[in-house]
Amino acid sequence: MNTKKIGPKTKVAISNSTTVYQNRILSPDSVASVIKEGKNNKKLGTTRIKKGPWKGLYIYSLTLVERETCPKSCIHWSDCYGNNLHLANRHTTNNLIPKLESDLERIMGERKNKEGIALRLHILGDFYSAEYVKFWESMLLNYPKLRIFGFTARMPETTIGKQVRLINLRYSERCIVRFSANKVSESLNSYAAEESFEGDNFVCPSTKENNITCASCAACWNSKKTVKFITH
Ligand code: SF4
Repeated sequence: MNTKKIGPKTKVAISNSTTVYQNRILSPDSVASVIKEGKNNKKLGTTRIKKGPWKGLYIYSLTLVERETCPKSCIHWSDCYGNNLHLANRHTTNNLIPKLESDLERIMGERKNKEGIALRLHILGDFYSAEYVKFWESMLLNYPKLRIFGFTARMPETTIGKQVRLINLRYSERCIVRFSANKVSESLNSYAAEESFEGDNFVCPSTKENNITCASCAACWNSKKTVKFITH
């Protein structure tokens, strides 16, 4: 856990299980698209993916409201990455699914995406219900060229975690959601660990070098090993 001091506004957000930046919470109905192009996030990258089986695809992302959609068991409940993201637009879950359906229909139909897209779930927030995970399973079924990657604080033994594990298993070539825990990856579960983790891992290169993006790295969906994030 990051030991950085937590200010009074953040303390209120933590106790209310929401973001510090209430003015950055948007209704899905009020925005042109809840699914954003990777160029809106410098860590994802503006270019097409440069290597691996997803080479040539563009990265997109979805941002939900941190804490409101997350498990309280998350080890970053207090020092969430979102505490410092004052400019990120977060989307509520009201009418989220119909909006995601229409966004995906449009994006998957774009000529530049004829080979599909890689969607990062979630920049902030998490899988908030088993129904929501089932929605993503139905999208993987509907769109054979849709790829999903990301991280979840839901553990594989929880109800939602089991659902995530299942879609990882059913769509193993197209859905790679890692569980955020200090564990060595096994055949069914891949993990994303903290800096303190000493088991078999590879270090996320973008946490060490600014010019590396997910599009240029692609390791999270090409390696079975635990990825470790360096935060200091
Ligand atoms: S290891 Fe690579 S793909 Fe994974 S988060 Fe870091 S830069 Fe992105």
